[in-house]
This record gives sequence, structure tokens and C-alpha cells, in this order.
Amino acid sequence: MPDPLPGQQAPMPEQEIDLLVIGAGAAGMTAALVGAIEGLRTVLCEKTGMVGGTTSTSAGTVWIPGSHQSEQAGIPDSIEDAKTYLNAVIGPSGGNAGRAAFLNTGPTMLDYLEAHTDVRFIPAPAHPDYQDRPGAAFGGRALGAAPFDGRRLGHDFARVRPPRPEFLVLGGMMVGKTDIPLLLAPFGSLTALKHVIGLIGRHALDRLRHKRGTRLIMGNALVARLLYSLRRRDIPLLFETQLEQLIVSGGRVTRAVLRDAQGPRSIRVRKGVVLATGGIAWNEQLRTLLFPEPARRFSLAPESNSGDGIAAALQAGAGLDDNMQSPALWMPSSVMQRPDGTASVYPHIILDRAKPGLIAVNSAGRRFVNEADSYHDFVAAMLRAHQTVPSIPAFLICDGSFIRDYGLGLVHPGTRDISRFLESGYLKRGDTLAALAQAIGVDAKGLQDTVARHNAFAYSGVDDEFGRGSSPLNRFNGDADHKPNPCMRPIGPGPFFAVAVWPADLAGSAGLHTDENARVLDLNQQPIDGLYAAGADAASIFRGTYPGPGTMIGPALVFGWRAAMHAAGKLGQ
Ligand SMILES: Cc1cc2nc3c(=O)[nH]c(=O)nc-3n(C[C@H](O)[C@H](O)[C@H](O)COP(=O)(O)OP(=O)(O)OC[C@H]3O[C@@H](n4cnc5c(N)ncnc54)[C@H](O)[C@@H]3O)c2cc1C
Repeated sequence: MPDPLPGQQAPMPEQEIDLLVIGAGAAGMTAALVGAIEGLRTVLCEKTGMVGGTTSTSAGTVWIPGSHQSEQAGIPDSIEDAKTYLNAVIGPSGGNAGRAAFLNTGPTMLDYLEAHTDVRFIPAPAHPDYQDRPGAAFGGRALGAAPFDGRRLGHDFARVRPPRPEFLVLGGMMVGKTDIPLLLAPFGSLTALKHVIGLIGRHALDRLRHKRGTRLIMGNALVARLLYSLRRRDIPLLFETQLEQLIVSGGRVTRAVLRDAQGPRSIRVRKGVVLATGGIAWNEQLRTLLFPEPARRFSLAPESNSGDGIAAALQAGAGLDDNMQSPALWMPSSVMQRPDGTASVYPHIILDRAKPGLIAVNSAGRRFVNEADSYHDFVAAMLRAHQTVPSIPAFLICDGSFIRDYGLGLVHPGTRDISRFLESGYLKRGDTLAALAQAIGVDAKGLQDTVARHNAFAYSGVDDEFGRGSSPLNRFNGDADHKPNPCMRPIGPGPFFAVAVWPADLAGSAGLHTDENARVLDLNQQPIDGLYAAGADAASIFRGTYPGPGTMIGPALVFGWRAAMHAAGKLGQ
């Protein structure tokens, strides 16, 4: 029987297990599944009443080079090419052992999950890497979880964290990138009409029995499949139970203190603890320590992600790895106050920035970035520009026809009545560029010159300033029907519109120092026995760069898998 814990009246019987996994997101659910499959007595503990964390609210894309799934789908990819690509993107920034382990076991991990669980992956034929560098892939490297019918979960459907409300339509229906054009033009073809009738009919039925639609795609599909697999194997999942402290004894993590509604209790662990609590997220101390001041205000993580895993590990003697090109991965995000006073934060991921007829400007009314580049590169440029010219917030500028065709942030394409967006101050309007500049507080002459210059580029189809439309990623997210450049058309005539965007972290890239087996390292870079970290709790193997779609969840799955395999003694240690 252990000593009583602080605040505990009497010692409670102490449970002993092999593997304790903290946090039920992509990394933790994978680690718990693998631990149990490999014969370890495993418990997964989750702070909230729902599984999924940030993973649930994400696009759920998984970046795994050289998978058998992509080869079988006729879109082969090579690990060698991926290596070349990563070397070009990351350069000599360290993390090589972790990257090698990731590349070498990524395909094995996918096959393992498909063989032993209900997780299924579908490679995307077109989902380009984020930088136009040697070895980049256009398709095959990014995979998504196959859609999942939430009804199969029964009561547990309510345990799946829903997507961001900003991305739901018709009171809780998920829509993917391929659904959107069909929903916007249901009468465009018979296929479109059938698809739309199917979607809406299913959703109407769902709403009779459920709070939201049960056709789960993207991050929700991945999480639901992981939960379904955990339940099928009866793996203990403790909800509303959070990690409070790790106990180190003789240089090894031997116990963890958990807290639930009954109070604190300790669990003894024979093989180890896997930390997977979603990284820095809303932890004020870590944000202040690691993030540049103008990027601390908004995070896209659920509020309950508060850096607990990293904080507990640091107390247990772990080292922080913050030698990153960027301490976090970012999305430019616009913010609208809801009537109840809370804020709706909308990440501008793919739907508007690359479409023709939009630019981003800073307070000087000047462009500072190729707006069609990845969301992370967009914000990195915004932070750089802000060092000399106030660029936070930056403003996305367009005309009325752009909003009609593509939408702008929370304003969906084709929205007829934009008054609530104008009244809330989310959307700014000006009959002329000068009037718009005044409304958003940017230099009017700068904005007029910038739009004139952009429009000249749009006519020629060549953006001499930032190369908008020049990369496969730009063109993929542009409008293929627009010629000559799918990312550029002249802006105007007025009225003109703007929304402000701020940096918001979608994940920390700084995190716990780990080795290639997901073991947490101490300040002398030695493994702390019995302590693992995966997902955003671990420092990024991509060193603060964002190589492609799925480069957070890909490693989260691989290192969740490696942590559990290592704890089970299956990695040849
Ligand atoms: C809009 C958006 C889209 C994205 N799209 C993609 C994408 O397509 N591909 C990609 O690779 N990445 C994407 N990301 C990033 C990605 O979602 C995250 O980096 C990743 O899901 C993190 O997974 P995780 O398992 O580390 O943490 P999470 O999924 O956040 O899970 C952490 C869990 O730990 C729990 N927890 C926290 N503290 C405790 C505690 N003390 N005790 C117990 N449990 C605790 C939390 O409640 C949570 O359930 C996106 C992010 C956003 C915001």
C-alpha cells in the first residue's frame, strides 16, 4: 500500500497494470490499442468525457510515405523520395533518428492497425505536399481514415468529440472537401443530385435520434474507428480522469497519480506511462515561454488540452526540445463573437486563401506572402513581416463576386444575406478600396497600389511578387476552372470586403525531448525509464516545419505504436 497522497484521507488500494496511457487522441488511443494487442495490461485515461481531443476536430489526414495502401491504389510513393523531400524542407535541424524510425515503420504501423483493429486507411490520389521541393508527392503520401457510421458505436457515439462547429452545416452535418462542390450545385449533374439527396436524407433521419449527423469523416472517422476498436477489445477507458503527477523511483517512472471525481489515486505501472495529452495547447506558462507574443492569443486545441503531459514530465525531470524552426504549427484564423459572448475561431485552411481574387495585406496595405501557400507558411510569413510592419492581424481582401463564388471564412459561398457578419464586425465592407482601408485601419494608398499591382499579375497569370499559383499545392487548392492561373483573378469592381486573421496554433512543434522509440529523455538526453510521449506531447520530428498534409497525425500514430511496442519489448531492444 503506498503512502497517502496529498489531500487523500486514507490510502486506497493501488491498482497495478503494465501500461498506462494518458490522453485519448490519435496518439493515446493508438498506444492503448497496441499495448493491449501486444498483451500488456493497459488502461487509457482521458481527462474529459469524450475521446478525440484535437484529432477529432482535425481533417484527420495521416502522412505516411511509401504505404502499401497507396501502392495498391495505384499511386505508389517511395520512402527514398520522402527522405529527399524531408532533407530539403528541414535541412540540418536534427531529429534524424526519429525521422528514420518514422519513415521505416510508418507503413508497418498502417498495416498493423488494419490487421488488428477497425481502423482503415484510404490514400488520397491528390493531396500535394506543402512545399515544391525535390521528392515532393502530389498524391498517395497522405491518407485518411475511411468514413465511419457513428451508429455502430451505440451509446458511445456521444463519447466522440464533435468537429469544430464552424465546419458543420445544417445543424451538425459533416462535409468533406468533395461534398462541397456537389452541395453548392446539386442540380449540376445526376451524380451531384443523388449525392446531395443521400447526404441530406441521411442527416434528416440522424437528427431524429442524434444530436448531430452520424456520417463521420476526417478526424471524427479516425477517432470513432479507434474508439470502436478499443471497445471491441474491452480495453479499460477511464473518462473524466486526469493525470496529475508522475512518480519517479530509482530513475524510473513507477506510478502515476490520477484524479477523478472521487479524488486522487495512484496506479503502479510495470512497463510504463505513455503521455499523449495533446501538447502545449492552452498551457499559459508554456505559451509564454515558447511562443512569440503576437501568437499566444488563440489556439485551435480544445480548451481542456492544457499541456498537462508536458508539465508532469518536466516535473519528473524530462527535457524540453524547443530547438525548432517554429515552436508551433499555425493556421491563419478569423474570429467572430457569438451572441453568447464566446468566440468562433475559423481556421482558413483550404477553402478561400488559394482561390482566385483574394490577397492578404498588412497594415501598410502590402502583401507579405504567397497567400495560396500552406496555412503554416502563411502564418510564418505573417510573423516575419510583423517584425518590421504591423501584420497581425492581417486582412484577407476580396470583392463581392469572390464571396459569392468561394465564400470567405465563416461566410459560406453563395450567402445572400451577409448582414450578421457585417453587424458583428467579422466582415468589413467598403464601396471603394479607400473606404475599406479606412474601415480596417490600413494604409489606403498602399492597398490601392497593391490591388492594382495584383490585378495586373492576374491578367498576365504570373504573380511576379510572390509566385501565387506556381506550385502544385497552390493550384490544387485554387479553382481549376479559372484560367490562366487558378489562383488569380482581378479584384473588383467594388464593393470590397475584408476579414482579419490572427495566428492560431493547430499544434505545438516544441515538446518533450524523445528518442526514436518515443522514450522521454531527461536533461542529459538519457531516457527516463518507463516514460514515453507521443503526438503533440513529443517534440516534432519535422523540427517546426510543416512538410505536408497529415504530418502531425502520421507521427502521432507511428510513435503511439512505437511507444507501446517498445513497452511490450517488441522493438528489438
Ligand atoms: C482544424 C485542425 C485541423 C487539423 N488537421 C490535421 C490533419 O489533417 N492532419 C494532421 O496530421 N494534423 C492535423 N491537425 C493537428 C492534429 O489534429 C493534432 O496535432 C493531433 O490530432 C494531436 O493528437 P494528440 O493525440 O497528440 O492529441 P489530442 O488529439 O489533442 O488528444 C489529447 C487528449 O488528451 C486528453 N488530456 C489532456 N490532458 C489530460 C490529462 N491531464 N489527463 C488525461 N487526459 C488528458 C485530452 O482531453 C484529449 O482528449 C489539425 C488541427 C486542427 C486544429
